[in-house]
Amino acid sequence: MTSPLIRFRGVTKRYGPLTVLDNLDLDVERNEKVAIIGPSGSGKSTLLRVLMMLENIDDGVIEVGGEPLTHMDRNGTLVPASESYKRNGRRNIGMVFQNFNLFPHMTALENAIEAPRKTLGLTKQAATERGVELLDMVGLSDKLDHYPSQLSGGQQQRVAIARALAMRPQVMLFDEVTSALDPELCSEVLNVIRRLSDKHDLTMLMVTHQMGFAREFADRVCFFSEGKIAEQGTSEEIFGSPKHERTQAFLSAVM
Ligand code: ADP
Ligand code: MG
Repeated sequence: MTSPLIRFRGVTKRYGPLTVLDNLDLDVERNEKVAIIGPSGSGKSTLLRVLMMLENIDDGVIEVGGEPLTHMDRNGTLVPASESYKRNGRRNIGMVFQNFNLFPHMTALENAIEAPRKTLGLTKQAATERGVELLDMVGLSDKLDHYPSQLSGGQQQRVAIARALAMRPQVMLFDEVTSALDPELCSEVLNVIRRLSDKHDLTMLMVTHQMGFAREFADRVCFFSEGKIAEQGTSEEIFGSPKHERTQAFLSAVM
């Protein structure tokens, strides 16, 4: 048996008195596609943010590829990772946010080549070749020189996906990437994600309110409630016959 690529054990994250992740355990296998659903405020974004090391955890362990993201000191106190360790760890993980977060003063192509040049030290030519290929893959080969303000929300989000992929991550995290989009723009972004998920060498965690897409896309669905996974299973299990009352109530409210 191989060990999971991503492993959360007893992970707790608090904001002041508020416990947002509550002693959370989660294993994600290599190449697995996991959908994360649940009510607003249940800790879904925080789960992705701690994995991306954008937030420090208060307790527990997160490992990626067997490497812990945080360390205990001799007294058993959790020591946050150094900035250089975080930068290094993030290379392996691409994240796409609800609000695109593109660099506004850079064209689509410049957005896609910035990180590989700076962080991976690729030459301009190598980074450009990769960027052009990825923007073509997301259907934007005619928009290379457009600035974000000249692109629709769906196009901006596809640039954001290409930019994240430019680092050749093993893991892609998607946090409600279609929530800010009109329905027709939404489907162009979901089509890109669908195409990506057919590539088997990507592990994907996706927080989404698109239940139809989650059902089709996910190998496994985790239902979040109050900082915990209240129920998880295959999409058949969760959407077909949810066991917990809270999952049932949530699904009947959103579907
Ligand atoms: P979800 O993505 O499931 O809607 P989040 O992970 O964004 O939930 O947030 C979980 C809880 O943590 C919410 O109650 C939210 O208000 C709170 N929270 C998130 N980020 C912060 C922060 N930086 N400071 C204080 N509270 C926060
Ligand atoms: Mg969220």
